[in-house]
Amino acid sequence: MQPNWRKLFLYNDFRDSPQKNTIGFALISRRSFVKLSALLVSGANTFLASCSTLLWKGSSRPFAPLNCPSAAGNKFDYIIIGSGAGGGPLACNLALKGFRVLLLEAGGEDDPCEYYVPAFHARASEHEALRWDFFVRHYADDEQQKRDDKFVPEQNGVLYPRSGTLGGCTAHNAMLLIYPHNSDWDYIAEKTGDESWHSEHMQKYFKRMERCEYARRAEEPDSRHGFEGWLPTNLAEREMLLRDKVLRKLSKAALEESLSGIINPIKRTLLKIKTHGDPNDWRFIRRRPEGLCKIPITTRQGRRAGAREYILRVRKQCPNFLEVRTHALAKRILLDEQNKAYGVEYISGAHQYRADPRHGTATPGTVETVLAEREVIVSAGAFNTPQLLKLSGIGPREELVGHAIEVKVDLPGVGENLQDRYELGVVTRLRENIPLIKGMKLRCPAPGEAPDSQFSQWLRDEGPYTTNGATIALMKRSFPERPDPDLFIFGLIGDFRGYYPGYANNIARTENAFTWAILKGHTANTAGRVTLRSADPRDVPDINFHYFSEGTNAGEDMESLVAGVEAVRNIVRLSSDVIEEEVLPGPEVKSREDIRSFIKNQAWGHHASCTCKMGAATDPMAVVDSRFRVYGTRNLRIVDASVFPKIPGFFIASSIYMISEKACDVISEDAERIQV
Ligand SMILES: Cc1cc2nc3c(=O)[nH]c(=O)nc-3n(C[C@H](O)[C@H](O)[C@H](O)COP(=O)(O)OP(=O)(O)OC[C@H]3O[C@@H](n4cnc5c(N)ncnc54)[C@H](O)[C@@H]3O)c2cc1C
Repeated sequence: MQPNWRKLFLYNDFRDSPQKNTIGFALISRRSFVKLSALLVSGANTFLASCSTLLWKGSSRPFAPLNCPSAAGNKFDYIIIGSGAGGGPLACNLALKGFRVLLLEAGGEDDPCEYYVPAFHARASEHEALRWDFFVRHYADDEQQKRDDKFVPEQNGVLYPRSGTLGGCTAHNAMLLIYPHNSDWDYIAEKTGDESWHSEHMQKYFKRMERCEYARRAEEPDSRHGFEGWLPTNLAEREMLLRDKVLRKLSKAALEESLSGIINPIKRTLLKIKTHGDPNDWRFIRRRPEGLCKIPITTRQGRRAGAREYILRVRKQCPNFLEVRTHALAKRILLDEQNKAYGVEYISGAHQYRADPRHGTATPGTVETVLAEREVIVSAGAFNTPQLLKLSGIGPREELVGHAIEVKVDLPGVGENLQDRYELGVVTRLRENIPLIKGMKLRCPAPGEAPDSQFSQWLRDEGPYTTNGATIALMKRSFPERPDPDLFIFGLIGDFRGYYPGYANNIARTENAFTWAILKGHTANTAGRVTLRSADPRDVPDINFHYFSEGTNAGEDMESLVAGVEAVRNIVRLSSDVIEEEVLPGPEVKSREDIRSFIKNQAWGHHASCTCKMGAATDPMAVVDSRFRVYGTRNLRIVDASVFPKIPGFFIASSIYMISEKACDVISEDAERIQV
């Protein structure tokens, strides 16, 4: 029998009897710290500047009790569909404002051990109890599509992991929380004419939600970190970097590469000293620097933290205001004659959706109807939100008619404009194993099996399993003329070459693999589409990203990625004392043309977004206005990754969490005007 992981692993706020929290950094000996300092001084002034923050142990204070409103009605004001980064926090925040909220989630509430352990995020994404498997196309062209090693012929696509569980994709993601670029918000303000989206106004949402456990409060006015929010943040890398000689050498090479293209290293050093290289520090955000940066992650006491924990806290403490129905697959939004949303029809039952690996054994669900006094809010993610809108009669007329769906609102933008980052892995083999991961199994112990030493450490809230495996990160402009850094390059322990069934097992196969993941931000391709396969709500839609030559502005994205591969190859060259060879793309991929073909065939993404874009009423492809309201309807909004007109920043969860906070303000402001 499996242990009760939730009871064992939840952090102190959830445990019945709080345990003593120890902090992993305390394990580092004075000698190793002195040795490391010497090394850093010799090679890396800028990095040394961040040591005071490294020494700072952080604080993990218990959450104060939530401030629940005192009265409750017995009907739902809001129905929110989807409990991920967009819908989960919104449901909590509206409930805390005194609205009665129903959160419908198609997945369940399972919490296997893999959910909790940050280093096992890949395993969480492949866990049967959490995952939804989408198989997507990168190209319509069959020949081109099949050149991808990750293509699965029986599924006619490439695996795109999603989570069908409480917390959505925040239940399996890699937990990186990196503030977007200010230009992302300013772009929305400009496109919609709504100044409240300007970057200066948006920062308050990050501050409000963040519960920073690693920065100093004394610097708060300048850093603009939040310390009282619901989303705990910590740093991924410090322990690994400080303790491991191989990782230290790799970081030094990355530092050298990051300094190579910098025009004014002195200015940059000063900035690093002020901000400690923290990408969520406002001084860093404003200056958009290139170079090494820290890796903030959403963890608390070494456990995953995200939308789910917030939902559980609010549900536990304010049960009259937040009701969560899991295993509830929304099949249709109910719209009256004036296209006013008044409720949701959903299928109640486990594993109803065909992306769920257990769908084949599911018993048929029952159809239920639930009514909203105020509004319905769709937060089902970039694939499912457009699907649900279309199933409800909101979408491109021709497509709906083709599936015999009654057209309520002819909105041609629904499901269009699908965007993602392009990602690549440069996989290397190290000359020696990484000492830090010696004997590491990178998995939860089977029942009755002795845990590996890292797992035992993790049970004490210490060691490498408390982080997500990302060790070194740098931001870079692929070309000096790019307004913002557009490449995020980070070092990962293991062999990671994208998503395919079984990828989590392969990451951990050897102890001497190290991957440099290249992530292209601000991609220019907007040609992806989500279209209905059928009118059956249990069917997965057709998803095609139309990469590169099939998409828009292919050259711009491609050349940036080539620059990314070249930068990584420079790091590999600089660390030849620890890296034995490049395994992927491999030595046979030499010329720029070879690199382009490799990228075209092997790139992937995992931040799908923009399929119901926000825009002005004059934009025929806009789906929502700047207050998240779906055009042509009343009382219907969308709050999730699908509303961005352009994919923001480097990692999308921070932006989704921020818009979720904003949506709560906007919705409650509107509610003040409308009495029900
Ligand atoms: C492997 C992986 C790693 C990632 N790592 C990071 C990272 O480190 N940092 C980062 O910033 N981003 C990361 N992301 C991306 C990020 O987590 C997601 O983009 C984000 O969670 C999306 O939020 P969302 O609210 O739009 O949708 P989701 O989080 O996907 O939530 C949607 C929810 O809606 C539910 N749902 C769908 N359809 C229905 C329906 N019809 N009825 C009821 N419920 C429904 C789903 O079950 C799901 O729970 C990662 C993504 C993947 C796949």
